Formats: sequence, structure tokens, C-alpha cells
Amino acid sequence: MSHAELLARHRAVMPAWLALYYDEPIEIVRGSGRRVEDAEGRRYLDFFAGILTNAIGYDIAEINAAITEQVARGVLHTSTLYLIRSQVELAERIARLSGIPDAKVFFTNSGTEANETALMLATQYRRSNQVLALRNSYHGRAFGTIAITGNRGWSATSLSPLRVSHVHGGYRYRSPFRHLSDEDYVRACVADLRDVLATTTAGDVACMIVEPVQGVGGFTLPPRGLFAAFKEVLDEHGVLLVSDEVQTGWGRTGDHFWGIQAHGVVPDAMTFAKGLGNGLAIGGVVARGELMDAITAQSISTFGGNPLATAGANAVLDYLENHDLQANAAKLGTRLLTGLRAATEHNEIVGDVRGVGLMIGVELVEPGGDTPNPRAAARVLEEAKARGLLVGKGGLHGNVVRMAPPMTLTEDEADEGLEALVAALESVRRETTGDATP
Ligand code: PMP
Repeated sequence: MSHAELLARHRAVMPAWLALYYDEPIEIVRGSGRRVEDAEGRRYLDFFAGILTNAIGYDIAEINAAITEQVARGVLHTSTLYLIRSQVELAERIARLSGIPDAKVFFTNSGTEANETALMLATQYRRSNQVLALRNSYHGRAFGTIAITGNRGWSATSLSPLRVSHVHGGYRYRSPFRHLSDEDYVRACVADLRDVLATTTAGDVACMIVEPVQGVGGFTLPPRGLFAAFKEVLDEHGVLLVSDEVQTGWGRTGDHFWGIQAHGVVPDAMTFAKGLGNGLAIGGVVARGELMDAITAQSISTFGGNPLATAGANAVLDYLENHDLQANAAKLGTRLLTGLRAATEHNEIVGDVRGVGLMIGVELVEPGGDTPNPRAAARVLEEAKARGLLVGKGGLHGNVVRMAPPMTLTEDEADEGLEALVAALESVRRETTGDATP
């Protein structure tokens, strides 16, 4: 089947709303380290796999061995009705790593399902269907998670099983509080939270859910301490705090293992997915035991925490720890962020360069102003691809270019990716401004 035929068949049989990158979408057929190859034999440095699937990288021998050992036993999965050793071990590890007192863990197959579970726990525990979320957030594509998502472009339906109020705090660049100092910004967001609690809710809110760094929202992050300030207010009202760590977990933010830790708070629950499986489908919730056990009816997850995924995930955690990848994320993240800021200082289509660890976003604007420029972001993706680099896109207006390379990234690869991205940004600046100087 040719590439063109595959694309035509994809379009015919898959939903129109399933997003595909690139004018000519690629089919990745092989991977090694931080590099992938497409069906046409073109090779790319992958600066986006890191949060999506391959937190660590492609074709890692230790992780392959853990998975194939399970395959060799001839049992890919039984059921959560039976004991699964690697599942219990993984749960214990995550409970310990979470820092949440008396933590318990429930495994799912995706981030969406993890957040749906967290919402169910919090609403059941508090006997309220009222939830607070951040503007510009993304939490999944099922009924409850779409309702809490604060990004119109990813909100498939306006119907909702929950009563949701969105507050400021996630997306500073386009907030009315943008030009305030960090301290005043936090103060303004706390005032907004108090106002929302007092006006648009009925008072007995179940939980607030936050992404410590908004992923789909374009790698936006609030000043450190915002969520600690929020927690003080939430505690006054008995509102639970849930941190969606689907993109920020496992040390990716560099200086902390979980994104929320940068704010000095311990949430009541955290949700995780994506990177933990390094490509295998696994997600879950880690929560205070009392909250987890708020459900009294019996339950089962057919595939959640299956032995293939949990054996792989244990190997991922081993690899992360043995190679101190969190420190690598901190070091190379700083190198990328600093390099990118310096190289784009005079690029008129670059409005903001931000991020932490290996989550770096470049917000593109119309030259000289701050009007969102989604066309430029789409063009930068194409220009980067032409230079052998895969990057991502995001933001409320689709105008943010995102970098999230695997955590095993090397210094040489960081520099190679940075050079390609800077060249792509420069090329799009020229075509946008009509700059023809050689
Ligand atoms: N939460 C966040 C922060 C995410 O970025 C995503 C996926 N983009 C999800 C939840 C949903 O995860 P999944 O696609 O695995 O359902």
C-alpha cells in the first residue's frame, strides 16, 4: 500500500476529528534511541515522543527484555480478578514516589480514563458534582474530562455530567494579569478563585484539577507557589486538589519528579499515563487511601494494569532511576530553553519562549505584536520536518510549537534539534515578514 493510499484510506475510515500532523502525515515504522524512520525511509530526530509515548526513547534493551519475558511466558494478561505481581509492585512504587500519605493506586489504560476515575473518586467522596479547573486545560476526551477541559478547540461537546467552573492561573501570556509581577499574578489568580467559589459555584465543590504545566495548552506554567496559594483557599472549603501529571510526571520537569512538587504542595490525588509505559498503554490514579476507598461498589478493569504494561512500566522506572534521567532532563532542558531564547530574541514572530525541564513551548505571533499566529506554527512544523526534526504543536489558538524529547536525550542531539528548530523559525519569520535579505 502506498503512502498516499494509506492516507486516503485513513481519511475514509477514521473520524474527521482525529487530528493528524503535517500536510503529508508520516507513518513511523522504526525507532531507535531518539530517532525514528518513516515508511519512505526518511529519518527524524524525535523531539515530541517524550510526553506522548516514548518518555525514555525507542528500542531500549532493558524495557524490551521485560516485555518479551512476559510474552515468553505465554500469558499476555489474565484479569484484575487474579493477583498480578508486577502490578502490585508497580503500585507500591508509585504510592511511595507520590509522597501522598497512605496512598493507593488504581491502574487504567489511558490518561483520559485516569482523570475520569479521579473525578469519580472526588465527586463521590464529596457528594458533589462541582469541579474547578483551569482555563486552557486539557484532561481527556471522555464525557467528564471533556467537561473539565478549558480549551474550546478540544471540547467535543458542551453537554456535561459535571458543573464546572474555570479559573485563571494556567495561561499567563494571554491572561488579563499577564503584566503583573509573579507575586501580584498569584494574588490576582487567588482573588479570581475566591470570586468563582463565592459566585459561580454552590459552595460545596468536590475538587480542583490542575496541570502543573499545561501540555496541550502550549507548555504554559504559572509562577511557583500558585498552587500552594490555591491549596490554602481550597482547604478553607474542604475542596480536594487533583494534579494531572499525565505530561509532567516521572521527572520530565527536571527539578522535581512530579510537576506539582515545584509548588511545594502534596495533592489529594495525582493522575498519570503516557510516559510511564514508554509506548505501552498504561495510566492510573494515585490518591489518599481514604479517597480511593470512597467507592464501595465492586469494580474491575479488564486491561488496566495488565502484566505486559506493568512489567514494562517497572522497567521504565528502573531505567529512569538507574540513569538519573530526571537530572538529564533538568540539564538539557535548561540548555534548550536558554539556547532557544537567545537564538530567537530578534525573531518578530516569537512572542514567548517558556517551559521547564524537557517541556518547552514557543508561542508564535503576528510580527511585532501578540496576535496568535497558528499558520506560522503549522509552517514551523513543516520546516522542522524538512530539516529532519519532529516537534509538536499546541496552545488555545494552535500557535505554540512544542518540544518534549525523550529523557535520554544527549547534548549533541539537543544541539542538533535546537539548530534545526531555530532554522525553521527563522525561515518562517522570513516568509511571514517578506524578508528577502540573503
Ligand atoms: N491529561 C493530560 C494533561 C494530557 O495531556 C492528556 C493527553 N494529551 C490526557 C490527560 C489524556 O490522555 P490520553 O490521551 O491517554 O487519554
